[in-house]
Amino acid sequence: MTFENLNIIQPILEALKRENYVEPTPIQAQSIPAIMQGRDIFGCAQTGTGKTAAFAIPILQNIKQAQNPGQGKRSISALILAPTRELAIQISEKFSAYGKSTGLRHAVIYGGVSQFHQVKKLKAGVDIVIATPGRLMDLMNQGYVDLRRLKILTLDEADRMLDMGFINDIKKIIAKVPAKRQTLFFSATMPAAIKKLSETILTDPVRISISPVNPSAENITQELYYVEKGNKKNLLIHVLEKKSISSALIFTRTKRGADKITRQIKMSGIRAEAIHGNKSQNYRQKALANFKAKKTTVLVATDIASRGIDIDELSHVINYEIPNEAETYVHRIGRTGRAGASGIALSFCAREEQGLVRDINRLINSSIPIVTDHPFRMTDLQTFGGGGNGRRPRNRFNSRGGGQARGGRNNHSRRRR
Ligand code: AMP
Repeated sequence: MTFENLNIIQPILEALKRENYVEPTPIQAQSIPAIMQGRDIFGCAQTGTGKTAAFAIPILQNIKQAQNPGQGKRSISALILAPTRELAIQISEKFSAYGKSTGLRHAVIYGGVSQFHQVKKLKAGVDIVIATPGRLMDLMNQGYVDLRRLKILTLDEADRMLDMGFINDIKKIIAKVPAKRQTLFFSATMPAAIKKLSETILTDPVRISISPVNPSAENITQELYYVEKGNKKNLLIHVLEKKSISSALIFTRTKRGADKITRQIKMSGIRAEAIHGNKSQNYRQKALANFKAKKTTVLVATDIASRGIDIDELSHVINYEIPNEAETYVHRIGRTGRAGASGIALSFCAREEQGLVRDINRLINSSIPIVTDHPFRMTDLQTFGGGGNGRRPRNRFNSRGGGQARGGRNNHSRRRR
């Protein structure tokens, strides 16, 4: 299968060549033809599967082909809603890349910064808007966004938007767009609330379920370190110094925790920055840019701040705390080992977190290999949840496939983070 087989127009094909995309990923192979035919999509897939291109390419193509060369002022033909500013910016970067030679224009709208430039762009006329729901509602209420001629509505990471409390904004936005439209709905997990929302906004959708695991996850070496809670920071400094880590994304449960760990890493002479909800948008963008440019070695992040962050060549992911939800583990480690590169995911497990590791092992249908060769290992591993028994479990990250199977898990615990 090639992109040419999918009848993609020349300007976009050229862009994909520039991006070095050789062949469509499974979600792209399934979504692109269906979206080009005007079908609604109900997609269960997460970041790392090529999901953005799966909707961006056909959106660009549909709008381009519907365009009237002599038409007057541009109107918004496509709206993409995303949960976080980071994801909105990343989606917009992809639209810039794929749509470079199409002549189509887009704006990215998110909160935490002045609305001045966003409004200026909207006033100049755009074909596509990528937005977080809160700021979009704001600008709609001020009369800067007219969605009456919208043709394609996309909800990306719908589960996260619900978790973040955007449901009312989303409903209000949907009420303002034409009932006759094409709707693309993507979510990493499918809890009941998501299914219910999707039923109210989709018409006879094509259902696409891409396995929850990043296709390149087999390239990820996973390591589990059992360590007393009070020793985690020492272990972290130890691994950062000992392993040749070129870039590490470290996940923490709390914003305060992220700041504290960042200070400790910096004290040991390693360049680090933190991103989380209490940091200004400009700071977060700068920290991300520094990390991508390898000016900093370590980026410490909370899950929400990091969702959707797309960093090429990330060598290590470190779970400083084990996430409450097993799916989050899969999301986190999927940040490394992308596009065929290899990656290493380390997880630090304290005594009280062993139940969470059990949940993860169950989800991935495997056991994360345990590392005992480190100075902070627990002395009573034998009695501690199956560690230290000399067993070297498989290091294969087996997908059970079908994200639907995970839909029954409730998503309330996420809200606590
Ligand atoms: P996404 O799931 O949209 O976040 O995409 C994950 C990563 O895969 C991004 O870095 C994309 O640029 C990259 N990507 C998307 N589609 C392809 C493709 N067909 N071939 C190679 N890389 C791709």
